[in-house]
Amino acid sequence: MIQNNAKLLMGPGPSNAHPRVLNAMSAPLVGHLDPDFLEIMADIKEMLQKAFQTQNQLTFAVSAPGSAGMETCLVNLLEPGDEALICVHGVFGNRMSDIVERCGARLKRVDAPWGEPIDPDQVKRALEECQPKLVAIVHAETSTGVLQPLEEISKLVKDSGALFVVDAVTSFCGVTLKVDEWGIDAVYSGSQKCLSAPPGLSPVSFSERAVEALNQRKTKVQSWFLDLSLVRNYWQGAQRTYHHTAPISSMFALKEALTLVMEEGLEPRFARHWESHELLKEGMESLGFEFLVREGFRLPMLNAIKLPEMIDDKSIRQRLLVEHRIEIGAGLGDFAGKVWRIGLMGENARPQAVDQFLSSLKQII
Ligand SMILES: *Cc1c(COP(=O)(O)O)cnc(C)c1O
Repeated sequence: MIQNNAKLLMGPGPSNAHPRVLNAMSAPLVGHLDPDFLEIMADIKEMLQKAFQTQNQLTFAVSAPGSAGMETCLVNLLEPGDEALICVHGVFGNRMSDIVERCGARLKRVDAPWGEPIDPDQVKRALEECQPKLVAIVHAETSTGVLQPLEEISKLVKDSGALFVVDAVTSFCGVTLKVDEWGIDAVYSGSQKCLSAPPGLSPVSFSERAVEALNQRKTKVQSWFLDLSLVRNYWQGAQRTYHHTAPISSMFALKEALTLVMEEGLEPRFARHWESHELLKEGMESLGFEFLVREGFRLPMLNAIKLPEMIDDKSIRQRLLVEHRIEIGAGLGDFAGKVWRIGLMGENARPQAVDQFLSSLKQII
C-alpha cells in the first residue's frame, strides 16, 4: 500500500515504505537506553533472526546504510595480512574488494562477466590456489540483476575452512535466504530494498564461528564505529552501555517494517516478488524488450532489461519520473545507457505497481 501523493520508486532502492512504517517514524522520541527502546531493539533482533532464518545471537542492525553492513562484516573479520577471496560479478563485488584492500588484507578475486553468476568451479579452482580467511559473494547483484545460487559455493567454502560472507542487501526479505542452513557466517542487508523501510540501517548477523574469529583477533578493528566487540555491548548482554546514539526514529520504522514482514510471512512475501516479476516479464516481452540475464538466474526484485537501439534511455526515464511520477534505475558502469533496472522491491512487488509502470511506459513509447 502506497500513499496517493507518493512517487512510485521502482529503481534499485529505496522502495516505497508502507504508511504504517512512515507513521511509526513520527512517534515521539525516547532515549536510546530507555527500557522501552531496549525492548524495541530486542523485538528487532528477534524478527531479524526469523527473517534471516538464523539462531545467531549476534544479529542486529548497524546504524548506517548497507555499505556500512558490508564494511562491518569485512573490517571485523579481516586483519592486516589476512587473505580474502572475493567473488565479483558487478558493482558490489568490486566495492567489497576495495574494502578488503583498505583493511590491509591480501585480495584474491574470481570474476564473472557482468550479467552472469559466479560458477562454483571458479571458486573451487581459486580455493586450490589460496587459503583465504573468508570468501565473500553478493547474493542479489543489484547492478546486473543476477540471482547468485549460494549452496554449492557455501559447501566449497566450508570444506576449505574459510568463513562465508554474503551480501544480502537486495535479496533479504525478497527471495529465499537461509543463513543457518546455507552455512553463512556473516551476512548484511539494508533497510531500503525489499524490507521497504527508509534507508539508513543495515541488518547484520554473525555466526558463532565468525564471533570466534572476532574474539581471536590480534589487532584492533580498524574502524572504531563498526567494531562489533564494542557495538555488541549496546545491543546485547546484561550491562547495556552507550556506544553511539542510535537513530531512534529509523529503528521505530525498521521495527514496523519487520512486523509487516512477519504478518505477511516469508514464503508468501517471496511468492509475491516472483509473481510480480512474472507479470512484468510478460508485459515487457510483449512490448519487445528482453532481459539481460538468462532465465534461471534472474532476480525477481531487480529486473535488468536490455534497451533496443531506438529507445532513448534518458528522456524516457525523465518522462516517467516527471510526467508519471515513476522512478526506474539506469544502467551502471558498462551498462549505462544500455540497460534499465526495474525494481519490484518489498511494497512495490505488487500487480498495481507493475500495471502502473507498464501503462505509463506504453503511453511514452
Ligand atoms: C544497495 C546495495 C548495497 C549498498 O547499500 P547502501 O544502503 O546503498 O549503502 C550493497 N550491496 C548491494 C547488493 C546493494 O544492492
